[in-house]
Formats: sequence, C-alpha cells, structure tokens
Amino acid sequence: MTDTDQTASGLARETALLLEGLGASLKAGDAIVVRSPIDGSVLARLAEAGADETTAAIGRADAAFRDWRRVPAPKRGELVRLLGEELRIHKAALGRLVSLEVGKITSEGLGEVQEMIDICDFAVGLSRQLYGLTIATERPNHRMMETWHPIGVVGVISAFNFPVAVWSWNAALAFVCGNSVVWKPSEKTPLTALAVAAIFERAVARFRAEGGTAPDGLLEVVVGGRASGEALVDDPRVPLVSATGSTVMGRAVGPRLAKRFARAILELGGNNAAIVCPSADLDLTLRGVAFAAMGTAGQRCTTLRRLFVHYSVYDRLVPRLKKAYGSVKIGNPLEVGTLVGPLIDERAFTAMQAALAAATKAGGTVTGGARATVAGCEGGFYVAPALVEMPEQCGPVVEETFAPILYVMRYSDFDEVIRLHNAVPQGLSSSIFTTDMREAERFVSAEGSDCGIANVNIGPSGAEIGGAFGGEKETGGGREAGSDSWKAYMRRTTNTVNYGTTLPLAQGVVFDVE
Ligand code: NAD
Repeated sequence: MTDTDQTASGLARETALLLEGLGASLKAGDAIVVRSPIDGSVLARLAEAGADETTAAIGRADAAFRDWRRVPAPKRGELVRLLGEELRIHKAALGRLVSLEVGKITSEGLGEVQEMIDICDFAVGLSRQLYGLTIATERPNHRMMETWHPIGVVGVISAFNFPVAVWSWNAALAFVCGNSVVWKPSEKTPLTALAVAAIFERAVARFRAEGGTAPDGLLEVVVGGRASGEALVDDPRVPLVSATGSTVMGRAVGPRLAKRFARAILELGGNNAAIVCPSADLDLTLRGVAFAAMGTAGQRCTTLRRLFVHYSVYDRLVPRLKKAYGSVKIGNPLEVGTLVGPLIDERAFTAMQAALAAATKAGGTVTGGARATVAGCEGGFYVAPALVEMPEQCGPVVEETFAPILYVMRYSDFDEVIRLHNAVPQGLSSSIFTTDMREAERFVSAEGSDCGIANVNIGPSGAEIGGAFGGEKETGGGREAGSDSWKAYMRRTTNTVNYGTTLPLAQGVVFDVE
C-alpha cells in the first residue's frame, strides 16, 4: 500500500471527531494500524487484545450472563429497543464511520446502520415470542412441553465488509434471548466496532435510568487478530460462536469448535450466480445484475460472481451490461454520485489481478479490471469492475475472489444450467431472471438452486433481516437474523410433567418395585 501515513490527514481528523462525538474509547498502541481504504491514510493505531485479555473479557461476559438470564425476556427486549433508538439517533455518524473505515459509498454505509435498526425492531418483537411447543404425550395425566433458555456467552467474530451489521444480526437476537456477547471485529475495522460499543453503552445507561437491570459486561469488544479469535473459539465458557469470514477462517474455526462440542454458526464465503432465461425482463435484469455484481465494489458475501445467460438473449443483454460497466462512476465513496468505491487494501487488488490473469489463461475475455486513479485518493486501491466472458465454468470461476469480477457464460439447456449453477463448493445466494413460472418454481424447488438464498427476478446480493440468512456447503451452513434463527441462540429443554398419582412408563415398560 502506498504510505500516506499522516495521522493528521483529513479522514483521520474526521474519524477522530466522530469517535469522540459517540464517546468511543480507544486503547492506543502500535499493533493494529487502521487505514482508510479511501486514500490509504492511517485512521488510528490501536493496541491488540491478546489471548489473556480475551479470556478476561469472556469472564466478565460470563458473569453478566448469569444476571441477564434472570431478566424477563420482554424487559431484555426493552434494552434492544433503546439500542435501536440510539442507532437511529447516531445513524449519520455511524454510517459515515463505516464509509471512512471500509470505503462504502454513503448510501451503503447508512444502509448498513439501517440493517442494525431493523434487526433491533425485529428482536424487540421476538422478545415476546420466544415460545416452545406443547406436545401430545402418550401417558395419562402428563404434559410434555419445550422451553427455551438462554445459552450463555455468545462469541461473535465478524468480517471487514459488514463491520457492524453482522454483529447486530447476532447480538440483537443474543441479547433478547438472555445471552451476553463477546465480539471480535475484523482487525481491519475495529473503529466502527468501538463506536457501536459506545452506542450500546448509551442504550444501557438509558435502560438503567428507566429502572432496568443490565449488568456490566453484557457486551465485551476485543480488538485483536487471530490470537484473540482463537481464545474465543477455544473457551469452554462460550457455548456458541458465530463466525463470519472466509472459508479459510471457517476451516480453522469449525473443527476447533467441534472439538469441544460447541455450537457454530459459520457464515463463510459465497460464489453466487444468476441465470438469465429466454423470457427474462432484460431491463429489470440489467439493473439487478449491475447492482449485485458491482455494488460495494464486489465485496459482499452475496455479490453476484457468475452469470449464466441463455444464448438467445446473450447478444441483447451482455453488450448493454458491458456499457453499464464502462459508465459506472468509480471514485471517492464520500462523493455524491459514486457507485463503486475502493477495495479494502492492496491484497484484495493483487488477488483480483491474479484471478483475471487466470481467467484470461483459461480462455476468458476481460472487460475492465484495471486500477483506476482517483484524484486525491492515490493511496487507495480503486478498480474498474471486470466483466469476463468465459467459454466455460472453470479455473477462477469456481473460487470466490473478493473483488468486482463477474464471469459471464452462455447456456442453452435449463437442466444443464441448474447443474452448472450448483457445481461450485460454495452455496450462499442465487437468482433466476425469468417470467416463465415453471423455470422460476424449478429454481426454488428441491431440484433447483442448492443455496441458502434463492431469488426470482431480483439479484442475489443483500438480504432483508426478516429472513434467515446463511448458506450451504463451504458457506458453512449457519443461519442468523430473521425467521426462527433465534433458536440457535437458546438451549431447548423438553419437560415432562406428571400431574397424576401413578407413574406410567413410556412404551408400556413395566418396572414395578416394592
Ligand atoms: P477473514 O476470514 O480474513 O476474517 C474474518 C474474521 O475472522 C476476522 O475477524 C478475523 O480476525 C477472524 N479470523 C481469521 N482467522 C481466524 C482464526 N483462525 N480463528 C479465529 N478468528 C479468525 O475474512 P474477511 O477478509 O474479513 O472477510 C471477507 C470474507 O468474509 C469473504 O470470504 C466473504 O464472503 C465472507 N463473508 C461472509 C458473510 C456471510 O454471511 N456468509 C458475510 C460477510 C463476509
């Protein structure tokens, strides 16, 4: 990375002011250097929490859990309601901080905070709906039921690209379910996490002022790298870890959790595809594809990376798509009108160039992909999004490269394209563009897309918090956010109550003792 290492750069000053305004507390040090991808300037230098500090944080969170689980769930929901209010109040500041630290365009930075607000609203309602079933029992004068209890300390490990929303998808549920949270954010984006911790403390202060009981340690943020992540993963006091990041990370974390029989919510890499059928509405498809493939500079887990276009519409869609690729505004994400901001760092740029070279070698024709110069942001890594026409699905197409590369392929047979769609190791999100009801229904059926998310006539990118979010295969199998994802954050007990005077055994077993 070009070193525009000026701690007093404009972006650093603005970041410091925003953090101060939110009341965030930073532990200065040299271990973690936070740079803005916008121009490469240093935003802060922080101390790194090692294994010992993480273990201490888990101890505090464990103590908090023991008090918090006794607070009635709707009261716990009140704390999350206040968190949602505080996020509304500080939406502009936090959204701006997301843009400064991650390089998201303004609307996406604010959109990320909106997702946090939405999940808080969802969790508040949920706090009155943590219900179990009553189940028919075979024995007279007995009742069988399920009850849901808080599980303990929930570890949250998050990735750089959704530095705050992913935390909230887990934490809002965890809190109403009666758990405490230890959060290890990405070492690339600790500042937004510290800002969220300060916002959470404001909600706690209001909750206490209303007479609520909220123990210290309900949320612990550990700013660290792999050592603190591993300490969190290995600690027996943490019964559930929700880890978001690359498949490489999942391969390290998953077995460690399995070794101690802990629960895992793994939210890992995606390699998302869309199929464009002969009957597709091409105007709608163009917009859906362009946003899903180029939005967030291709740095969403749900980014569209593979596009299968029926040969009969290929020449009507792909030239228009290339035109859109050529005209999209790349630049400083803080400027109005910019649609594509920077990559997170030089490593991401190098990985993108390597994937494009491999695609060319495999017979692909690349449009775009070169480094773009943005005035005043020379230390950032900006790229023209790349559209690569591939003769077949091979080489880098079956991998996730976390950058704006869209591989485009022709198809002619529907069964074959479904097979190709599913013929990658990842299984996060997917789409079909069609107005043919049979194709749409096939795609979302058991024989269709094998992903956790399967959409019709909208792109694969992004998700509403109301649905369960996650994917299959190497994406890890975890689910978070809406629907009944909350069940992973609680432990279920099955209770049988005998209100009679005899003791009939199940399955007709006779075991009479005098
Ligand atoms: P990353 O894997 O480099 O890091 C993610 C987090 O894991 C960081 O906090 C990191 O410190 C931590 N970590 C890494 N190795 C660890 C270990 N051995 N033990 C414990 N913690 C460890 O990912 P990234 O570059 O920050 O994010 C991009 C990746 O995340 C992409 O692959 C993207 O698809 C994926 N992602 C997935 C989802 C999803 O919901 N499926 C959402 C966002 C991002």
